[in-house]
Amino acid sequence: MIRRILLVLVASFLAFTGTATADPGPVTANDVHAMDGCYTWSRSLSQGASGEDVRQLQIRVSGYPGSGAVIGLDGQFGAATKSAVVRFQQAYGLAADGVAGPATFSKIYALQDDDCTPVHFTYGELNRCNSDWSGGKVSATQAKANALVTMWKLEALRHALGDRPLTVNGGFRSVSCNSAVGGSATSRHMYGDAADLGAGVQGFCALAQQARNHGFTEILGPGYPDHNDHVHVALRSGRLWSAPNCGI
Ligand SMILES: [Zn+2]
Repeated sequence: MIRRILLVLVASFLAFTGTATADPGPVTANDVHAMDGCYTWSRSLSQGASGEDVRQLQIRVSGYPGSGAVIGLDGQFGAATKSAVVRFQQAYGLAADGVAGPATFSKIYALQDDDCTPVHFTYGELNRCNSDWSGGKVSATQAKANALVTMWKLEALRHALGDRPLTVNGGFRSVSCNSAVGGSATSRHMYGDAADLGAGVQGFCALAQQARNHGFTEILGPGYPDHNDHVHVALRSGRLWSAPNCGI
């Protein structure tokens, strides 16, 4: 009975909107792109390009900077961005020419949710402190933007370790949340660009070691004080990698 009512409701809705009978014509590449609720690229991007579309691309490939490196999110498609695009393409079995065209964008669309987060991570996982990202060391908007970049790095880390679930136990903290958990006074959690990872199926050392390739300049894990039960990854100026029990 409920099913019958639903069918009637759906039929009524379709009749009302006219979508059941209108012929939309052949699906084009533009239609596919337009179905992405987050961001749509309208041109191919290669070295020398600049603009907001380049910056949006840089965010998506920020997990592919090469060992120990970080991609600048400056909207300028330089050599480092090209190398990151090549690594992204290689990681997903695409033709690795360093040019972001339809195949690369299609993969990105498949990898992202409508809120622009990569499909395997959510803003909620990256903020177990409050709902509005306020009270940190940067604006709420900046903290959330930093967390988005962190998630794209985590997506790359997850993919490199076999695409198995990755456990995120927290990310952004307001100053008061940070104090409440005894976080360092300079903790990157207050900037939104840190994440604490559980062992998951990968294990702490595999996570800490692999994280070195995905844009994290701060990696703290087993053997570092108070980090025997998680791996902390973040972005900071300069490099601080320490997980002595993992050879780091
Ligand atoms: Zn941490």
